[in-house]
Amino acid sequence: MHDTIQLGDVTVTRVLEWSGPLRMVSDIVPDSTAEGLARLGPDFRNPDTGAYHCAIQSWVLRSEGRTIVVDTGAGNDRDRPQIPVFDHLRTPFLDNLRRAGVEPEDVDLVVNTHVHYDHVGWNTHLVNGEWAPTFPNARYLIPRIDRQYFDPVNEHRRPPARTDADRLRRRGSHLVFADSIVPILDHGLAMLWEDSFRIDRNLTLTPAPGHTPGSSVLRLTSGTDRAFFVGDLVHSPIQVAEPAANSCFCENPAEARATRRRLLDEAAETRALVVPAHFPGHGAAEVRRSGDGYELHNWAAFEPVRVR
Ligand SMILES: [Zn+2]
Repeated sequence: MHDTIQLGDVTVTRVLEWSGPLRMVSDIVPDSTAEGLARLGPDFRNPDTGAYHCAIQSWVLRSEGRTIVVDTGAGNDRDRPQIPVFDHLRTPFLDNLRRAGVEPEDVDLVVNTHVHYDHVGWNTHLVNGEWAPTFPNARYLIPRIDRQYFDPVNEHRRPPARTDADRLRRRGSHLVFADSIVPILDHGLAMLWEDSFRIDRNLTLTPAPGHTPGSSVLRLTSGTDRAFFVGDLVHSPIQVAEPAANSCFCENPAEARATRRRLLDEAAETRALVVPAHFPGHGAAEVRRSGDGYELHNWAAFEPVRVR
């Protein structure tokens, strides 16, 4: 298994939490074209049913002697009425992490690229019926803007929930805040950042707003190697080919489009590996310009995750 690659002085290890079909690609990326959908390979779309093939995974970075977990998946045991597939999910994620050589106590830093349920779940776990930090010795880097935006006390600043589906999603986001963010704040482990945050010589967080107001990208620069850990900038390779196509989860459509194009442009220019949160298959790839969009080439050497 090649779950680890080396980028300059940094090792990057993929730790899978969950993979499976999740609705249709045409639901997840509703602005995508039929031609683009037809071109998606079987790692990303079931050719018979059109189902979206999803991975939920964390990226473990070892940089300058520290262990850093980028995004923490959906987590176990949660009430998630807004997304039944992940309601009271049970996965062996912590065993997978241990197999990658990481005990929860070893983690020095956690990065939440943004505050959606599938990026903050393993921030916490249940201990005697209470949500406690999973990584007790870590500091958790959380974008300040998302921390404010998703705090239920600031509900009045968000667009009103108009439909039953909106109200269910809103209730779900309150649950996420309560079980995955509040315990980190209460334990004094949160490092709220804005503008940008330099982690070390190799790693810097910068804003990538649109998907959520506080969405961010973790930039790796070491030697001649570059990588962008982009969270949910793209959910599917179709958004690389068609960068104007947002996911159904993007909160600010115009800003999400502009950010996607800006970052893909920069990735193409600098030959940065683009590492999204939810690609199965090889998980990450370089991009280059192609027509009005981009195309993927040079997949990363990770052992492919196949969705069935
Ligand atoms: Zn996500």
